[in-house]
Amino acid sequence: MSECDSCGNDVGDEADFCPACGEPQHSDAKRQAILGRVSYAVGFVFIVTGVSRLPGKLGGIPIILGGIQLFPPMRQLLGRALGRPPKIWANAALSLLLVVLGAVLLYLL
Ligand SMILES: [Zn+2]
Repeated sequence: MSECDSCGNDVGDEADFCPACGEPQHSDAKRQAILGRVSYAVGFVFIVTGVSRLPGKLGGIPIILGGIQLFPPMRQLLGRALGRPPKIWANAALSLLLVVLGAVLLYLL
């Protein structure tokens, strides 16, 4: 089983469309793989950026958390806590929020 990018609903691997929201799913596996790799890459950059600001600058902590948040297993973990995984854009927005918070802290402190 894979999940719909749009609504997070479980979709069969061979399904062409999500039964819940109708989003096309045919290139899902490929797109998921690319998105996963991009998420890891960007998350890793955030973590390295955050760590490079520590221990002197506390703003590095939210940036590291934002980077970890981008890793696909974190989204699955969050999904277990919330009942279903957050949408990819919502997860990315949360991650970005943490990074912006970190940047603001870096600027203020
Ligand atoms: Zn859907």
